Amino acid sequence: MTQKEPKEKPVNDLPVMDEREGIVLFYPHIPKEAVAEVTSVLHSRWIGQGPRVAQFEQEFNIRFGGVGRSLAVGSGTDALHLAYILSGLQPGDEVITPVFTCTATTIPFLYMGVTFRFADVDPATLNISIPHVRQLVNEKTKAIVCVHYGGLPCDMDELHAIAAAHNIPVIEDAAHALGATYRGKPVGSLSDFTMFSFQAIKHITTGDGGMLVVRDRALAPKAERIRWFGIDRSNKQKGTWENDIWEVGYKYQMTDIAAALGLAALREFDQTLAHRQRLFNAYKKELHGVSGLHLIGAGHTDRTHAAWLCTAIVEKREAFMQYLRANKIESGQVHYRNDRYSVLGGRRDDLPNMDAVEDRYIVLPLHLHMSVADVEYIGSVIRRGW
Ligand SMILES: *Cc1c(COP(=O)(O)O)cnc(C)c1O
Repeated sequence: MTQKEPKEKPVNDLPVMDEREGIVLFYPHIPKEAVAEVTSVLHSRWIGQGPRVAQFEQEFNIRFGGVGRSLAVGSGTDALHLAYILSGLQPGDEVITPVFTCTATTIPFLYMGVTFRFADVDPATLNISIPHVRQLVNEKTKAIVCVHYGGLPCDMDELHAIAAAHNIPVIEDAAHALGATYRGKPVGSLSDFTMFSFQAIKHITTGDGGMLVVRDRALAPKAERIRWFGIDRSNKQKGTWENDIWEVGYKYQMTDIAAALGLAALREFDQTLAHRQRLFNAYKKELHGVSGLHLIGAGHTDRTHAAWLCTAIVEKREAFMQYLRANKIESGQVHYRNDRYSVLGGRRDDLPNMDAVEDRYIVLPLHLHMSVADVEYIGSVIRRGW
């Protein structure tokens, strides 16, 4: 793009984006110090799961995990699969899970033969609809899964009340919501299980990676075993392992190389979050009152938005996207209703709110390589009309 200079530098003196590319939707963020951190791991004896993973788990847990225990894994999907196993789900059990999310939320149910019932979206937030969850829950329901869409926490008190009435766990997919708070508490400390993702374009990236926060610390030894084939690794290292595997495990650990990236990102997380929130607030200001468009999830006072996605509902979405593209601004849907995939059982007919927005939502660029001036430019383009 050939716009004015950014008014303020993005954090950490990041390079301004390639002008020919325009403003892209996503851009991975690697802190400057990460390079030295990773290099030192590469020169050490531990590159797989070693001391850096343990350190990353501890530092992450202090910040986000509350009373729970944080376990680093190879991806957010790994973390969800572990959470589903640890919550005791068995083949044939039923869960309630959001229809509007990344496929990562739903796919692990297929690994396990768990039956999933898709819950509709709340039209104001695109988070899970509480009235629909109330309608779906029954004596066969064994867990409720929610996704904090774009970074805005779901109605957790309501979800916890429903879950408590049925004595079932709540599992949070918080891939979008690192740093979000709900009624003063950090996401990560609220439910039985919370999963975070460190995939390339998330708030923190380790290339690929994830974290599972398990509230009941008594589950931690099992979680650690099934993260590593089912082997009791700590006893193995001490030489006191009885040399048996009695439960199915996976190869879901994080490496020290990845953890070094995570540690560096954690250290500058406050700036990362603040910059994202600054951009989100700039969008709110720029797009306020634009006819044919409204922002999703902008008006809450009892919870803070982690500003991973800036999503709007727009009229004439195709024309809107083409118009933005002509002005060198990328946009996209990012996530799709999961019942569009035949492997997930195909289209459901009890999701009217999803039906109403599926051709109208759009995600706008929001990442650390952008400045407030970029958002002002996007705002000025949109206000001219499409
Ligand atoms: C990114 C993401 C995940 C996890 O993805 P991984 O690539 O496995 O880390 C899960 N749920 C949602 C909503 C996501 O956006």
